[in-house]
Amino acid sequence: MNRYWSSLVGSLEPYTPGEQPRDQQYIKLNTNESPYPPAPGVQQVLTSFDYSGLARYPDPESNQLVTALANHHQLRTDQIFVGNGSDEVLAHCFQAFFKQTMSILFPDISYSFYPVYCSLFQIEYRQPALDDQFRIRLDDYAVDNGGIIIPNPNAPTGIAMSLDDIRTLLNKNRGSVVIIDEAYVDFGAQSACQLIDEYENLLVVHTFSKSRSLAGIRIGYACGNPLLIEALQRVKNSFNSYPISSLNQAAAVASIEDDEYFRQGCQKIISNRELLTDELTAIGFEVLPSSANFVFAQHLTIAAEALYQQLKNRGILVRYFNKDRIDNHLRISVGDRSECDALITALKAILSES
Ligand SMILES: *Cc1c(COP(=O)(O)O)cnc(C)c1O
Repeated sequence: MNRYWSSLVGSLEPYTPGEQPRDQQYIKLNTNESPYPPAPGVQQVLTSFDYSGLARYPDPESNQLVTALANHHQLRTDQIFVGNGSDEVLAHCFQAFFKQTMSILFPDISYSFYPVYCSLFQIEYRQPALDDQFRIRLDDYAVDNGGIIIPNPNAPTGIAMSLDDIRTLLNKNRGSVVIIDEAYVDFGAQSACQLIDEYENLLVVHTFSKSRSLAGIRIGYACGNPLLIEALQRVKNSFNSYPISSLNQAAAVASIEDDEYFRQGCQKIISNRELLTDELTAIGFEVLPSSANFVFAQHLTIAAEALYQQLKNRGILVRYFNKDRIDNHLRISVGDRSECDALITALKAILSES
């Protein structure tokens, strides 16, 4: 605390992102980035981009990107909102929809940015507990609330909800906004985008950071009813009129245009994940059923924190959360085949020494 700080700033507990070390080459399996490069068309955009255009502000509405996304999802352009990473889109959502008299709801084990936004925007929240198998109990969400946000698949568990469950959730919550954060949906879950025309209170949030190998350019977007999209535009235009740079917009459009590359990339991650799950199980891990590009696992004899540290000593980063209920689990991003192999080799060595 400092005399120049507002009392709000003094009260914040900011999000701690996964380590991005610059000092040493690690095998990075800690922040759910893609091990594969973005679509080749993205590189073409970057090398042929007319740099003199950077003297101008970008299109404030990012129309080219919104149109490409609308075509991709078979939605209308007034059903899409784009932002500078889905974290920014989510921040606008919290301001636009969740500043309510009643508490909002999200699971006790879920994306740890949500409580951070609540403290920044001074929003009350409750966190219904996942069940013993880390599944969402739908009944917990059939209560009055100021809004709901759930990642699907959930993070850091990787467990997906079915479309039927999401329908049940929506049917019981006609009066508040329900946000499904689909950061990992492309790795095997069903998207709720197809329900947007049925439920005017549904907002679905996506990111380019995971399945499109574009964490570095920071693009995220929301799909929903035009009235929800307009609310997000009102917040955005009260905060930053030009969130997407012209260079980033062009790169993002090139990614969408190469659907074949996108699908193949997701498919490779899914098959690596299945292999990794089998190998981890074979050496004594309990692995939750994942529909994401990471697995959440605990070893039956060695503590997660020790494993995290020993893997780091061997040049492999995974994510450890020192948090109630999950402090014996590791979240391991699915890398390419050689990264998965290196992880298993290191784990076998650690296990044989202990
Ligand atoms: C990674 C992630 C995000 C953030 O994505 P960005 O677009 O990189 O800001 C949002 N929600 C969840 C659940 C995530 O895991």
